[in-house]
Amino acid sequence: MKPLPIQGDKTIVEHITAGLAKVAAALRSQAWEGGTARKLTPTQGQILLLLEERAGQPIRLNDVANALGVTAATASDAVIALEHKQLLRKGRSTEDNRALTLTLTASGQREARRSGGWTDVVRAGVQSLSLEEQAVFLRGLIKLIRSLQEQGAISTMRMCAGCIYFRPYAHADVAKPHHCAFVDAPMGENQLRLDCSDFVPVSEVDGVRRWQEFLSGSGGR
Ligand code: SF4
Repeated sequence: MKPLPIQGDKTIVEHITAGLAKVAAALRSQAWEGGTARKLTPTQGQILLLLEERAGQPIRLNDVANALGVTAATASDAVIALEHKQLLRKGRSTEDNRALTLTLTASGQREARRSGGWTDVVRAGVQSLSLEEQAVFLRGLIKLIRSLQEQGAISTMRMCAGCIYFRPYAHADVAKPHHCAFVDAPMGENQLRLDCSDFVPVSEVDGVRRWQEFLSGSGGR
């Protein structure tokens, strides 16, 4: 029997890292291809999508930089370019008159719907996974994102795992072991959020304890 071809001495960690890099490259290329025709950079396209997702909420420049994991200067340049293209407008926050908020214009809303198309290839790939695989993948992503946050590679995301309302493994039901105290309802692994508008960051001490409970699968029971 022929031996299984092994690519050098690569570990599974190296294979996954290389795979993720390829997915990132594919996404970048899709984002550039989709945006080039309409003269939008990937960052500009992401800002349009973010403003569409959070329509009705006051979005400031800092919120954009945090959500995209870019510097305030990069976010500011992209916002200025989008304003020149009349795809967004700046206004004053009703809560704080000194703060600028960003809103899509009607053309910006249309452009945002078109910009979303570049994620379709990834969506199709994820849909090809079984529901169990999707839940495992989501949990893996949460752990990966948390590590990136801790390394300072990306800004804090509005995930259940870092939310004051999250109660990991509060229920014995294996289908819905977690609890969201905001809506006061149990939730399954496949319902964990990566970007929730009701998110409130947990304190550092509680955050570490809850994260350990989430990892250990006990919830302190
Ligand atoms: S409020 Fe949102 S982020 Fe917080 S636990 Fe509930 S679903 Fe998760």
